[in-house]
Amino acid sequence: MEQATARTLRSVEEQRPAPISILSPATREPVAEVRSATQADVQAAVARAREAQRRWAALGFGERRKVLLGARAALVARRAEVIDLLCKETGKPRNDALTELLAVCDIIGFFAKHARKQLADQKVHPHLLRNKKAIISYHPRGVVGVISPWNFPVLLTYWDALPGVIAGNAVVIKPSEVTPLAVERARDIMVEGGLPADLVQVVQGRGEVGGWLIDEVDMICFTGSVATGKKVMARAAETLTPVQLELGGKDPMIVLKDANLERAANAAVWGGLFHSGQVCMSVERVYVEEPVAEEFTRRVVEKVKHVRQGLEENGKPIDIGAMTFTPQLDKIEKHLSDAVAKGAKVLTGGKRRSDLPGQFFEPTVVTGVNHDMELMRDETFGPVIPIMPVKDADEAIRLANDSPYGLASSVFTTDKQRGIAIAKRVEAGSTCINDCLIGAQITEVPFGGIKESGIGGRNGPDFLRKYCHAQAIVVDRFGTKTEPNWFPVPKWVGRVLDRAIGLFYGRKPR
Ligand code: NAD
Repeated sequence: MEQATARTLRSVEEQRPAPISILSPATREPVAEVRSATQADVQAAVARAREAQRRWAALGFGERRKVLLGARAALVARRAEVIDLLCKETGKPRNDALTELLAVCDIIGFFAKHARKQLADQKVHPHLLRNKKAIISYHPRGVVGVISPWNFPVLLTYWDALPGVIAGNAVVIKPSEVTPLAVERARDIMVEGGLPADLVQVVQGRGEVGGWLIDEVDMICFTGSVATGKKVMARAAETLTPVQLELGGKDPMIVLKDANLERAANAAVWGGLFHSGQVCMSVERVYVEEPVAEEFTRRVVEKVKHVRQGLEENGKPIDIGAMTFTPQLDKIEKHLSDAVAKGAKVLTGGKRRSDLPGQFFEPTVVTGVNHDMELMRDETFGPVIPIMPVKDADEAIRLANDSPYGLASSVFTTDKQRGIAIAKRVEAGSTCINDCLIGAQITEVPFGGIKESGIGGRNGPDFLRKYCHAQAIVVDRFGTKTEPNWFPVPKWVGRVLDRAIGLFYGRKPR
């Protein structure tokens, strides 16, 4: 008996994927080693989540809100632990980590406050069958799987997970194998703060663990690259599991000749370099009208040269930190060398920082670019700002739309009405006028991508409904003995239907 148990345990361990070593991207020092889940672990986690979800959904909005706010209070009290891990595993500055956590705290409060309204039964008066009334009733889907990336590990996990929980679901999270630590610590703290342990669980591991999770859950929220997003959707199709995909971007910034050039230049520098460009909605390409292109470029280069990059030691302030994911450095170099080979000119930056211990790439500005270059077509995800002069706004819009992506975008002009008109012609999930990157922080409006940048989205007035299935309940109003179209169908019914079609739908527009 004991031998059989030992054999079973051995075989489970043999199936366990290799552990994951986490090194600090800023110093290359070891931070932690993480044990990967097995397929059986994932199945067991989802089974526990299912049980917990039933109890959770039965609590109702008021109780759920109280639990969530208690968990948030615990997270806030112990935020230093989460921030510390987040900085260590991503190499990002403390201010960026704080922004991430602030956004999570705000999301909890916002959606907990609006859940009752967003998910209340909706009464409907049918326009056609006036003898019926209808109700739309929202029910949690069950267990939501969240698969998240490494660039904003905490935000991009809990922005999906906690609204899902607020809507009455349980959640099983698979963080990126590159940044698994802060997500799990945040979860543990929230559990200590009152969130039921089986309601929000974390399974660690590489892509295969994400695949196993997709097989088990009732909905999948995925944030990551386009290539993986397509695999996720294909796998989810096997079980007809609904997906939300938040994928990559190649976001354009359009600068018109009447723009406030100083603001536009500051925005390009911040939007292109924030978090070393490792942001899905980074400014990845700038189109600027020819009359102001030279002056705009001069200002951008000047500002980029003063961006403070490096290690956050002894309280020394920095603007940008390390590249979190090692292969990202090769990708940036590949984009730059392809561009230079095709005629582009690097005005500042352009190489790795050999003077720093970790993975740093110099803030870079490139001109002489065109759409034959990878730098203008594929997501670079690094601290690179390519600037391309254009004849006019029409050319800028045409080039902005010449992309398989459609996440965010921005337009700079002092004529705000014209800016809005141009925004409507840009193929993107969101567009900022005289600003950039902040669309996602306006919780009241939807944020998501079109084209290859994704399916579905976060935020906005219907966000929580996404985590529910909408049930239609139709009620007969008058309780008559029968209906005109029930059997045996009276002779006159065909005549009336025929007349009704002619009467109601046959009129030509005036
Ligand atoms: P990635 O696609 O490599 O990995 C994302 C997650 O998917 C990881 O947890 C990974 O382990 C998992 N995964 C990998 N293969 C899988 C598979 N076959 N099945 C299931 N899961 C699998 O992405 P990344 O490199 O971590 O993140 C960077 C990308 O994310 C960029 O393209 C960026 O633009 C995008 N992103 C998008 C948004 C958005 O909101 N639109 C936000 C941030 C990042």
